Amino acid sequence: MKLWVDGGLHDAATARVSVLDHGLTVGDGIFETVKATAGRTFALTRHLERLARSARGLGLPEPDLDEVRRACAAVLEANPMALGRLRITYTGGLSPLGSERGDTGPTLVVALGEASRRPDSTAVITVPWTRNERGALTGLKTTSYAENVVALARAHEHGASEALFANTVGQLCEGTGSNVFVVVGGRLLTPPVSSGCLAGITRALAAEWTGAEEADLPLDVLERADEVFLTSTLRDVQAVHRIDGRQLAGAPGPVTAKAMRVFDERAASDLDP
Ligand code: PLP
Repeated sequence: MKLWVDGGLHDAATARVSVLDHGLTVGDGIFETVKATAGRTFALTRHLERLARSARGLGLPEPDLDEVRRACAAVLEANPMALGRLRITYTGGLSPLGSERGDTGPTLVVALGEASRRPDSTAVITVPWTRNERGALTGLKTTSYAENVVALARAHEHGASEALFANTVGQLCEGTGSNVFVVVGGRLLTPPVSSGCLAGITRALAAEWTGAEEADLPLDVLERADEVFLTSTLRDVQAVHRIDGRQLAGAPGPVTAKAMRVFDERAASDLDP
């Protein structure tokens, strides 16, 4: 496996970044996960725009998006695979202990892993911890993901693949790595970005392609929703068949099944050139 670091391709086994990289020591970094089908990325421009937004939010130097594009192309060319997940990581760079960001400049790493097509449906849990809808990092895709790691581990303990958070005022927010949609009273709804969720790229496309509406939703909407689905780069649109102890019979239901179909068709024809 070849990955991109320090401006060029390196063997993954021997590629190096400093052990004093600010991304490693304090989580001062941002990332994107981009899907690639047979070497062709999906929605790369949107991912790069969000990377730049996250960099601005964290006060990192503006990433050189042409370099990121070149890096993605080089890594994909060096590692052919049917379905892959590119991981772009951009951090504060080498910083001597106790100091703020160093002056050696940011670190850019682009790596590729195999991905697999998601199962059509999955189980989720809710967790008692909250997303902060007004924090300094709200809406930024930072590498400070430890809270998500803890929540996801709890989901796995319960035989689920995702954990859903409410925000500090009890509204449904998002999962550890996905956005959430619900069908209530015949309407397809998803929490707004003001709930504290990430502005997911799959969320935006799925909402556009299905006509879903944004709405503030109490967490207990999950107890009465007729259908629930998740969206993310790696899940695409994925039905939920169990939430905590509640089974959603027949998942994917009709609205979700249609969203899955529409998303799959549109995404397949919208691969980047
Ligand atoms: N919410 C969080 C916290 C995420 O980390 C992700 C993706 O990794 C998403 C939502 C879904 O975003 P996207 O559809 O852009 O992958």
